[in-house]
Amino acid sequence: MKKLSTLAFGALLMGATPASLAVAEQARPSLTGKPYTGPTELDTTLPRDYANDLPDLGDIAQTVLSPQDEQRIADQIMRQVYVSDDVLQDPEITDYLQALGNKLAAASPDKRQTFNFFVVNDNSINAFAMPGGVIGVHTGLFIAANNESELASVLGHEIGHVTQRHLARMLASQKYDTFKNIATTALALLVARSNPQLATGAMVTASASTMQRQLDYTREHEREADRVGLAILDNAGFDVRAMPAFFTTMQRGTRFVEGSAPSFLRTHPLTAERIADVSNRVQNLSYKQSKDSLDFYLTRAKIRASLGFPQSAIDEFEDNIRERRFNSEIAEHYGLAYAYLRKNDMANSAKQLAWLKANATPHPNIETLAATIEMGNRQLAKAQAIYSQAMTQYPMHRALVYGYADSYVNSKQPDKAVKLINEKLRLFPNDGHLYEILAKAYSMKGQTLLRHQAQAEAYYRQYDVNRAVEQMELASKAKDGNFYERSIVEARLKELRRQQGIEKEQKG
Ligand SMILES: [Zn+2]
Repeated sequence: MKKLSTLAFGALLMGATPASLAVAEQARPSLTGKPYTGPTELDTTLPRDYANDLPDLGDIAQTVLSPQDEQRIADQIMRQVYVSDDVLQDPEITDYLQALGNKLAAASPDKRQTFNFFVVNDNSINAFAMPGGVIGVHTGLFIAANNESELASVLGHEIGHVTQRHLARMLASQKYDTFKNIATTALALLVARSNPQLATGAMVTASASTMQRQLDYTREHEREADRVGLAILDNAGFDVRAMPAFFTTMQRGTRFVEGSAPSFLRTHPLTAERIADVSNRVQNLSYKQSKDSLDFYLTRAKIRASLGFPQSAIDEFEDNIRERRFNSEIAEHYGLAYAYLRKNDMANSAKQLAWLKANATPHPNIETLAATIEMGNRQLAKAQAIYSQAMTQYPMHRALVYGYADSYVNSKQPDKAVKLINEKLRLFPNDGHLYEILAKAYSMKGQTLLRHQAQAEAYYRQYDVNRAVEQMELASKAKDGNFYERSIVEARLKELRRQQGIEKEQKG
């Protein structure tokens, strides 16, 4: 048995046995009763010849892995994502990635597939697709990508694996006790990412026997994913030359910070042929000028600011600014401000903010930074004024909403927090984190029913129905609700139990 690296799980998912090479024809189910509605509205029309470019995989009738099964696995993974310490829970970073992913998905051949993107705090250069359109991206990939098109080219490739049903087919080939093994394996990926020994153990039990022969098919799938990814990139208006360029860079193994081997290569082997194939295709596409978004550079700078020792991050940004070595000067000052924040150096952070205010066009991330600095200075009223003002300009910017709500909780103003969150839940009805802050606020107010109800709704939105039921039961036993509140809780408890029953039945 070949020794498996942590992210061999990616490779595992890319394989398939010939018998299972069937195209998934079923429509994706809407997530029955599922709260997440993030990526939607895939209405981009593809160029006519695009469909012809897709590989013919035959029409064997059975996918075997049903979309319901796939969705259940995806939900399990997302449950881990919400609680994992390895996943960046920064809404500005996640929302940027999700928006970029949505833009690419909208240009993909499968309009029904939904995607959940998240960022893993890991310096190695990697991205991986999991069942149900769940795609993880390492911080290392953000850093290695020189421009937005390079990042998009890897995302496009991963989206290609998903829309070509490579995962669904591979999983379908695991006839034995499928669900438990897949869940275990998926779990192993997230839990043991930072502990290769553990990951190896878990994956050996999960799928030792099928591993080797599945790897035989990886190359074919890689070619398909490249082809689809490139078409997505082109269709979404990115610079297609970024794909062969980034692949070449990764293959050469240059440009990487210490200790960050491109593990993407392990899960998606990059052969000279593969790069040549992509390069040839690019030659036949017309060149489009693609302007990188400021969001890309700000997000990347925020990630860079969070790495290593604060002082080395400060030095790096300062050197870059002094030597004018950057793609975006704004992002460099923005990153420097965050690096100073890590040292609690509010004064120097504020200097950078002042530079941004004078030189950058208004941006919600800059408002978040401004409010964060005021909070660091314990200038609560000033911070709240910034939040309040910024939210009228950028009502959909979650980081501002979270920051504002947190500021009320932290300053023991639960009434204001409750009012704000209830207002914002109309804009973000599926946001588990907002419900969590709401639960804290009710707890502060000593309102037991409402507190457990909010906590139940938070768990439900984090794909954890069992804990949602527990909390709703506590809410129903609370003595402090009025008739109206109690009847809402009872009805909701009934519905949650029904869903819990369905889940159990499917698993058994
Ligand atoms: Zn791949």
